[in-house]
Amino acid sequence: MTTISAADERSALETVERRLFIAGQWRDASSGATMAVEDPSTGEILVEVADATPEDADAALAAADEAFVSFRTMAPRERGEILRRAYELMVERTEHLALIMTLEMGKPLAEARGEVAYAASYLRWYAEEAVRINGRFQSAENGGSRVLTMRQAVGPCLFITPWNFPLAMGTRKVGPAIAAGCTVVVKPAKQTPLSMLAMAQIFEDAGLPAGVLNVVCGSSSGSLMAPLIADSRLRKLSFTGSTAVGKQLIAQSAEQILRVSMELGGNAPLIVFDDADLEVALDGAMMAKMRNGGEACTSANRILVQDSIAEEFAARLAERMGSMAVARGTEPDAQAGPLIDDVAVASVKELVDDAVAGGAKVLCGGAPIEGPGHFFAPTVLTNVADDSRILREEIFGPVAPILTFATEAEAIAAANATEYGLVAYLFTRDIARGLRVIEGLETGMIGLNQGMVSNAGAPFGGVKQSGYGREGGHEGIDEYLSTKYVAINVAD
Ligand code: NAP
Repeated sequence: MTTISAADERSALETVERRLFIAGQWRDASSGATMAVEDPSTGEILVEVADATPEDADAALAAADEAFVSFRTMAPRERGEILRRAYELMVERTEHLALIMTLEMGKPLAEARGEVAYAASYLRWYAEEAVRINGRFQSAENGGSRVLTMRQAVGPCLFITPWNFPLAMGTRKVGPAIAAGCTVVVKPAKQTPLSMLAMAQIFEDAGLPAGVLNVVCGSSSGSLMAPLIADSRLRKLSFTGSTAVGKQLIAQSAEQILRVSMELGGNAPLIVFDDADLEVALDGAMMAKMRNGGEACTSANRILVQDSIAEEFAARLAERMGSMAVARGTEPDAQAGPLIDDVAVASVKELVDDAVAGGAKVLCGGAPIEGPGHFFAPTVLTNVADDSRILREEIFGPVAPILTFATEAEAIAAANATEYGLVAYLFTRDIARGLRVIEGLETGMIGLNQGMVSNAGAPFGGVKQSGYGREGGHEGIDEYLSTKYVAINVAD
């Protein structure tokens, strides 16, 4: 395990860009303004980064619009090779990227390295997909004409990304967009702009033509983004973030009928039947709950355990969660880092307090950890009342509420009792039961006997208020392609 020194941290921060990336150039904000990026494990300022103005955002869209004219016709193999080089550079720079990510977002270095590998895997996957975009040719039903379809790049895209996976939520969109021949403007979350800027450095080094990728960071996302969404040069918006902001962006997009993809919030159920391998279910629950410190859209928000094994399961989960090393992400033995900011700590505390006021029992944790930074103790709750807010709202922290059920039908009904529908996890050794439950669950993804579903080759996305559109897999590139159909007269 490598120990990170203060000098390592300084040198990583000195080598990452802090300016906007527009039309292939690194620029200060036109106003000269900067915004602070904080270390969530200390609350101290790490660096100042350019704080874009609406004029800068407009320049970024103008660059994407201009670059689209030639990029759309670049040979697919060439686009694929740029993505492949970017993949290789990202893997080569893993240590640097992971440290930057840990510093700005807080997750332990081991998890940050995992995210770099995960982020890079989308570039590799779409490097391979760029050359497989196809159409079809067939006889019309009456035989009198022919049907030709082709799929073409949608056009300039806007990507708005969250802070919880600051690199992967970018590559999951940028990879397929570039493979399809689209140009893009990315706006990362204000808490974590450095990872996206480091990604732009990689694409610059990989030889991506100027203007194809532009990165605009800013502290006032609403006023930066609204004019771009209303601009007729923009053809597509892809957003990853909260359902509340997603709804506003969908409404704004209606004005010019933008193509839209929405990767929104979740309230994942994790169901454990009494025939499950308990060790596998506990490993899965730890992964689904504690990956990214619980700050993931895929986090298990409600753990539903069949009556007969509930007490044992809760005690064993509390033993594991209660013994986790919670520390600054750069500490070699850290297993969970801080939450992103004070607001996040206050919101998790409110949900736990509300559950406890309703009669919930705290098996471990239950409160923020005193001291600098934004830490919250890993927490397991049982006896949670049905009307507790924690069962309805996204927790986004290291808290596992455990509920019980008696029958399969009860488990399905409880799992579906939410407006979200991103992912569910299911633990059983009975394959027929597994399939019955899977068919009844209202989610876009399901983990069967495993606590993680993310994979570049698979379509990630939700139903209900968790959004629409898919990222990853063969499906992911469809979000960046429009189908054109040609009716061909073949009569003599
Ligand atoms: P958020 O508050 O919705 O912010 C997401 C992004 O939207 C940030 O870049 C933010 O910028 C920007 N934004 C906020 N208000 C905006 C507005 N009025 N106009 C334009 N942009 C705006 O979400 P978050 O707290 O960063 O991320 C956590 C949420 O993301 C959770 O709900 C989580 O479930 C969801 N998420 C979903 C997925 C998925 O694939 N389904 C993956 C990861 C996360 P600023 O922060 O700079 O204001």
